[in-house]
Amino acid sequence: MERNEIKLYDVSYQAQPISAGSRLETYWLQHFTRLEKGVNVRRFNYKNLFDNKLGPVSDNPHSVMMYYKLKGFQFGNWVKQIDRVNHFGGCALALADLRMLMHSKNLGFDHNIGVAFGARGQAGAAAHYEPRLMMINLTKQAGAGCLAHEYGHALDYFFGMRVDVKKGGAALSNGDSVSKTIIPCGGVFRHQMAEVLKRIVATESYETWRKYHKKRWSYWGCHTEMFARCFEQWCCWQLRQKKIENTYLSYSWKYYQDTPSRYLSVADCKKVFPAITKLVALCAKEMNRK
Ligand SMILES: [Zn+2]
Repeated sequence: MERNEIKLYDVSYQAQPISAGSRLETYWLQHFTRLEKGVNVRRFNYKNLFDNKLGPVSDNPHSVMMYYKLKGFQFGNWVKQIDRVNHFGGCALALADLRMLMHSKNLGFDHNIGVAFGARGQAGAAAHYEPRLMMINLTKQAGAGCLAHEYGHALDYFFGMRVDVKKGGAALSNGDSVSKTIIPCGGVFRHQMAEVLKRIVATESYETWRKYHKKRWSYWGCHTEMFARCFEQWCCWQLRQKKIENTYLSYSWKYYQDTPSRYLSVADCKKVFPAITKLVALCAKEMNRK
């Protein structure tokens, strides 16, 4: 990956430290824990933030940004200190788990991807990804649980725009396309993404989604959305294998099982996930290239 592609665009990285408030622990317990027997649910607290086993998490946005090679963290002006601490803390712990799943600490692809909290909202969306600015945006109210999904979009677009480039197709997945016919083209990343999509459209879950979302199929059925949903589910599944649940990174496994209108059934996960694992391995190789 090329260092000369570092562009900060309009991300106003705010260096001022965030400070903890006393409602921190209560807030976290109320919002982000769903304890399940035998599963280590990642909870945000100060001990966790400095737990070396989890990686280089700290309460300092600058050090986390540098470690994961992110573009920066942005906080909306109206996001209170207590929310900044909670979101940043949750995100730092989620990045530590994501690093494990991606087999790379270069999660920001050499400082190209940034994370905004409550700063760049879009009406009606809990979170969204801006391909042009390469920013993951998590809303103050509903952003928790969405990081893996938005990271899926970041992966799709960054590799499509900077690594496996093809004219007329910014995303590896061909973004907005809802075509059921997947034609592989381009380099290894696009081919592997095509393999993921081929497996998705061959599942029963895909047919279920179509029935549920006849009206807004251009959204629910477009390639990048289907990939991002499967990717977040893959993240949840991979952590589950390690008996971990991170409720800032993704929703709970139970939620995915209870929502067949949007997510893969367990049987279909087994068909699709090996292709995602292979895609992630390809990406990791590139991310770890010096
Ligand atoms: Zn999405």
